[in-house]
Amino acid sequence: MDHSVVIIGSGLGALECGSLLARRGFRVTVLEQHSQPGGCLQSFCRRIPSDTGPGKHPGGADAPQSVRFDCGFHYVGGLGEGESFRPLTDLFGLTDLPWIQLDPDGAEEVYAEEESFLLPSGHEAFADRLASRFPAERKGILHFTEVLKGVGDRMFHAFKPGAGLPDETGRSAHAFLCETIRDPLLRQVLSGTGLRMELRAETLPLYPFAQISNSFLQSAWRLEGGGKTIVDRLTRILLQAGGVLRTRAAATRLEERPDGSFRVEINGKEILEADSVIADIHPAAVLSLLGEHPRIRSVFRRRISGLENSFGMFTANLLLHPGKLPYLNRSLFIHAPGSDLWHPDGRRTESVLVHFYPEGDRIDLLSPMAWPEEAPGGAPGRRNESYETLKNKKLQECLHLAAQRLPGLEDTIQAAWTSTPRTWEDYTGTPGGSAYGIRKDWNNPLGTFLSVRSPLPHLFFTGQNVGLHGLLGVSMTAVRTCSCLLSDNPLAAGNQ
Ligand SMILES: Cc1cc2nc3c(=O)[nH]c(=O)nc-3n(C[C@H](O)[C@H](O)[C@H](O)COP(=O)(O)OP(=O)(O)OC[C@H]3O[C@@H](n4cnc5c(N)ncnc54)[C@H](O)[C@@H]3O)c2cc1C
Repeated sequence: MDHSVVIIGSGLGALECGSLLARRGFRVTVLEQHSQPGGCLQSFCRRIPSDTGPGKHPGGADAPQSVRFDCGFHYVGGLGEGESFRPLTDLFGLTDLPWIQLDPDGAEEVYAEEESFLLPSGHEAFADRLASRFPAERKGILHFTEVLKGVGDRMFHAFKPGAGLPDETGRSAHAFLCETIRDPLLRQVLSGTGLRMELRAETLPLYPFAQISNSFLQSAWRLEGGGKTIVDRLTRILLQAGGVLRTRAAATRLEERPDGSFRVEINGKEILEADSVIADIHPAAVLSLLGEHPRIRSVFRRRISGLENSFGMFTANLLLHPGKLPYLNRSLFIHAPGSDLWHPDGRRTESVLVHFYPEGDRIDLLSPMAWPEEAPGGAPGRRNESYETLKNKKLQECLHLAAQRLPGLEDTIQAAWTSTPRTWEDYTGTPGGSAYGIRKDWNNPLGTFLSVRSPLPHLFFTGQNVGLHGLLGVSMTAVRTCSCLLSDNPLAAGNQ
């Protein structure tokens, strides 16, 4: 076979498609506009300020000069044998990475209304634990876990020929929760890990809520080395199979030729020819690269550019004084008393996710953050003063909220760095710095769960904007994208 594929972007979806197609004989070139591949899986290093660094650091002169943090990915669900994510990690060669299972007796903790709820792994243990605290709700809890499990068990039916969207894409997640559970505190607990997606009563379909929650309920895992470990593995597979990864190579224009193949302009000057193109970037950005095209009708263009995107995320990366904050082998979700998780006010700090790095010396705080157009900014590397003020205010709010469950947190911090949705917008090109891409809407499933096929026969989409976000969702979509170019389903036995 001699079929060339150019992939725009090097996020998880791109690297999964690239490595799989290269293994199957395609000539693959992955283009990344930045110096590092990985998109939301990237990690970055920060220099430890000298007043806290070597010399003053309890580690003495040997103490590290810099420290590494993750951008997006922090943990994933469903990696155990027979669980949701496992067939995909097997397919993409990620199963043997140094995964660390979170405490099965409490992989996640929700702190809501000033009470802690430890959520164990496994549907039965999860239901039993909650039913012992909310005995009157046992029936509802069992129904809740059964529905989640049902959605997870049917996940791969999506690859059957002619399969349409699952029914749950057209049902409201919030309505399901309210019909199933009467106790408002229990609803809060069952929604308490929802920062993994965007909980919105008006839009969030039951399908992503159930599929994502189900995988984390099966089991939850961190990864030694974070997202970079995945990027390194997929890049290695891509290169070993003869593929090419080019960084500092932004696709700046796409031109379809009369035979359906493409000319891809790089950095405004160089041209690459490709039989097919896969875009791992926001579909609205792809349409801009294409410019006017007779087959892209204005109604399609308006529909894509009019789609709303999920909220953005504020992140505080915190280096801790050694031994001051005990490591928790679980993810911690802390919510302000009285907050309404299904009607979030992105301008307030109502929820924080605390992620502990396996080395125990760092944590991240993540909190949703709306990013209005009038918000301050300035160019990367030259942010203005009001932007720094805004970031500092948000950091203080996150610390204050997190301290409700982790008293004295502020005193454990050696150094702090922060990023906002503006950072994400600058570095991944996602409009508004959206964390999870196009907002899915149960009122309009067909319009918000996009196809991996574009109106042009040799242009395909992948990544979090078309299907679901997260490692599970993006990997599912990568399989769907690859199936368009392969004559079979790569997940079928014998193809791995
Ligand atoms: C804050 C945050 C926390 C998260 N936490 C988790 C988690 O704990 N667990 C989990 O499973 N998921 C998590 N996710 C989601 C997960 O990381 C993403 O869904 C996934 O990594 C997105 O992959 P993608 O393929 O869509 O590409 P993206 O990561 O969006 O990457 C796209 C890439 O394309 C590049 N690009 C853009 N335009 C061009 C161009 N013109 N030319 C060349 N390159 C271009 C960008 O620079 C970028 O590198 C998190 C996301 C965020 C933002």
